[in-house]
Amino acid sequence: RAMATSLLRVCPPGELLRPLAVPERLLLGPGPSNVPRRIRAAGAIPLLGHMHPEVLQVMDEIKAGIQYAFQTRNRLSLAVSGSGHCAMEAALFNLLERGDTVLVAINGIWGQRAAEIARRLGANVCELLKPPGKYFTPQDIEQGLVQHKPLVLFITHGESSTGVLQPLEGLGELCHRHGCLLLVDAVASLGGAPIFMDQQEIDVLYSGSQKVLNAPPGSAPISFSERARVWRAPGSDTGPTAPCCARGCSTWGWSCLWRRRWVQGKPITTIITTREWGQREDTALSSWRCAWVAFDAREMSPCCVMLSPGAVPGSAGAVGLEQARLPTITTVRVPEGYSWQDITAFLMDKHGVEIAGGLGPTVGKVLRIGLMGCNSTRDNVERVLGALRDALQRCPRSRL
Ligand code: PMP
Repeated sequence: RAMATSLLRVCPPGELLRPLAVPERLLLGPGPSNVPRRIRAAGAIPLLGHMHPEVLQVMDEIKAGIQYAFQTRNRLSLAVSGSGHCAMEAALFNLLERGDTVLVAINGIWGQRAAEIARRLGANVCELLKPPGKYFTPQDIEQGLVQHKPLVLFITHGESSTGVLQPLEGLGELCHRHGCLLLVDAVASLGGAPIFMDQQEIDVLYSGSQKVLNAPPGSAPISFSERARVWRAPGSDTGPTAPCCARGCSTWGWSCLWRRRWVQGKPITTIITTREWGQREDTALSSWRCAWVAFDAREMSPCCVMLSPGAVPGSAGAVGLEQARLPTITTVRVPEGYSWQDITAFLMDKHGVEIAGGLGPTVGKVLRIGLMGCNSTRDNVERVLGALRDALQRCPRSRL
């Protein structure tokens, strides 16, 4: 043993021997959001094996929770191990094969991201474009479907880079009339804005655990309609009742998830904490109300007026479409003369509050303030607005 030790060339890291110090922060960015104590405590239960009956039972319960939150009876409803990006990739890889045509609605970064993933898997990607801050009308979508004849339409419900909520009414029916599946990203909106997977005829819907659901990151709910589950591209040689993944999903990691034992390879602790959001009183339906209460409070605030959310270039407010504003993430213009980095750093350092700058098309233009799940309270609205007022007085302002 002494000889083996003498061969070590990399010393044990001293910093790992120090206890971990983590500050309390109010997470009002676009996610992750704060995790309530009870959900955090679930992560501390003794570890179980991934095939233990208790874990299999928890998986069934998570499935029921997803069916409730999505308002669906889909059998293929599960949680993938990973972030929202993983669910996005899992959805695209399981629906599309090389050469398939996908129409991607792009009005912010998430459409761009989906298009990029679809391109990498060899799909024929057609883009339906709207300026950031605008949403798609059914007429826009129908034109795209007629022109490109896609097998799948991708659209983002809550565009967190711009603060736009995409109306979904009628899109499922439209897609089906044109022989196309509807794939919806609800990572930033699920639980904060109403969505009804079955009634709205959505074929694939996914979200993330660390936003409105207030669970730790690392688990992403996803559901496939029966149509998507048995669907196959024209010319595909897999049987008509084969799950979509059986069509030759080009990644093993995601396709294996559709096996009955989707727990395999899963972080058990994440599964357990994922289950816990289902017990929150404000899960899904009633948390819409929380989001809107906080949303109303924002509207009344003089500081919001000062920051004029209605005038943000590239945000929902800029186009005067109140109904299209995402209740979970508000974009406000970076006040003239200030740097967004100064403001976000000031809020973090002096007030222990996280908010974010813009993303993709809104970089440098907006601040993004998230109010998700248990964070959607009037007190938190007042706290972030107080912190912003303070920032405007104390951060440097250029006169140019
Ligand atoms: N889609 C949307 C609409 C999002 O807001 C996000 C995260 N901000 C993602 C996908 C990706 O999720 P994650 O960060 O969990 O990978």
